[in-house]
Amino acid sequence: MDVSIVIPLYNESESVELIGDLLYTELSKTGKSFEIIFVDDGSEDNTFIELKKLKQRILHVKIIKLRTNQGKSTAYSAGFEYCKGDYVITMDGDLQDDPSDIPRIIKKIEEGYDVVIGWKHGGKGSLSRTIPSICFNLLVSLFTGLKIHDVNCPFRIFKRHALKNMYLYGELYRFIPILLYKRGYRIAEVHVKNKPRRFGRSKYGISRFMKGILDLMTLISLSHYTDRPLHFFGSGRILLFVAGFCLGFYFSIQGVLLLG
Ligand code: UDP
Ligand code: MG
Repeated sequence: MDVSIVIPLYNESESVELIGDLLYTELSKTGKSFEIIFVDDGSEDNTFIELKKLKQRILHVKIIKLRTNQGKSTAYSAGFEYCKGDYVITMDGDLQDDPSDIPRIIKKIEEGYDVVIGWKHGGKGSLSRTIPSICFNLLVSLFTGLKIHDVNCPFRIFKRHALKNMYLYGELYRFIPILLYKRGYRIAEVHVKNKPRRFGRSKYGISRFMKGILDLMTLISLSHYTDRPLHFFGSGRILLFVAGFCLGFYFSIQGVLLLG
């Protein structure tokens, strides 16, 4: 098997047929053998029914169904464990990533890279998403040394062996490029199109920004403290902690004396 595509889906029933057909058309053009793995991440709509219909028409389609909605990290892990291709492509299932970019992303990795990340040139759509994204990518470069423009872009291609021992949970799927960079894999990027969502709504609301801050902390601890987690509480932080503790103790004694 040359190429596996892994696509997480959560309540995307309207997109299934269209994305299935587009993927089949584009992948057939490449002349490579391929499989299209859809991971139904516990959808509550007709996604699974639509997937079964698609599978009857397109033999390359494979379906993994998660019983409950577990998020993209778990969905990717399930897909990565199952896939057989020498190359593994990930993309979203809401048609925001364009299957017509697939030949270019394959061509780029064939130049000799281990990972190629899409770069949604021209921003993420609205300013409210573009600005946080630019800041986030700058911070990523600063803290990790990985200089790419769109670390969060879901459109990516990997050599399958690079994904071995990749234990993903929570929001870690966003940081796959950083985890691989730290393991010494060669990373490149290519421009990809960014289309507006055709059906339904984004599955991530305002909580995206709060999560972004937590993501950033994860990022810092991943880049500096993975092998020595307690060092996160370096000497400066320990001194602050001790000072805070002493002050708290002092004021509670004062309070007891006053009450007495
Ligand atoms: N998705 C998923 N599980 C979730 C949330 C999202 O599998 O818990 C899928 C979703 O169906 C889509 C992709 O992940 O294929 C990206 O989601 P979305 O378009 O909502 O994210 P955004 O484009 O707003 O970042
Ligand atoms: Mg989307």
